[in-house]
Amino acid sequence: MDKKLFIAANWKLNGNCSSLQALTGEINSNLLKLPSVLDKMDLVLCPPAAYLQYITAEVQETGIAVGSQDVSKYDQGAYTGEVSASMCADVGSQYTILGHSERRALFNESTSDISLKLKQAKAQGLKPIICVGETDLERNEGLTNDIVHKQLVGLIEACGIESFREGLIAYEPVWAIGTGITPTPEEVQVVHAYIKELIGEYSVEIANGVRVIYGGSVKASNASSLFAMPDVDGALIGGAALDAGQLDAIINSLITG
Ligand code: PEP
Repeated sequence: MDKKLFIAANWKLNGNCSSLQALTGEINSNLLKLPSVLDKMDLVLCPPAAYLQYITAEVQETGIAVGSQDVSKYDQGAYTGEVSASMCADVGSQYTILGHSERRALFNESTSDISLKLKQAKAQGLKPIICVGETDLERNEGLTNDIVHKQLVGLIEACGIESFREGLIAYEPVWAIGTGITPTPEEVQVVHAYIKELIGEYSVEIANGVRVIYGGSVKASNASSLFAMPDVDGALIGGAALDAGQLDAIINSLITG
């Protein structure tokens, strides 16, 4: 089975109605110049929660999907400030990023929190994009695979391997996010192959359907060498996805292989 490639744009805490409308408009029109590109890849825009419904309406005609950057571990109730998976689904989200390193580091999210969020996302039919990755300290100590193993096995044990069926795992080395520094494509390939092997220890069938995408300072200039790796099934893009021209160039690199 040929896997569909995957690109998600993580806009983080950036933009407003007018800037995100302009950005989405440019992305839409660039995509129209690449006929049937969405047969070959999924493209998902992840705006701040306040703009989910707005961006969903903006992409309605194009086949681009929308995802949230997080969901609450709760479904409803007295949890001021939270946004639930059911609310995100209700306004048209199809995906959600989970376990982003910024949430782990800045908001103290533990594997147990992420597993509750994963359960909420699955219950609401959102497709999770599960982020894993090591810090520079862990990398320097040669612990990359151990960290990825710990993060993934914690979720598999809490939620079951079924939660990973047709799943998306984003390998995002923390030290590469927003820094302009990336691992070599070969280093990325080693971790992606390891992730697929690890999922395969639980279910070969599920491992065959999992897409492993890379995130961390992806830009037009490094995208094609990363996408040339056999186990890189796409990318999660932060900074460069705030620039429609960069995103278009990255999409082009992905589909031309
Ligand atoms: C991210 O935040 O998921 C990310 C990959 O950011 P950047 O592309 O800016 O490194």
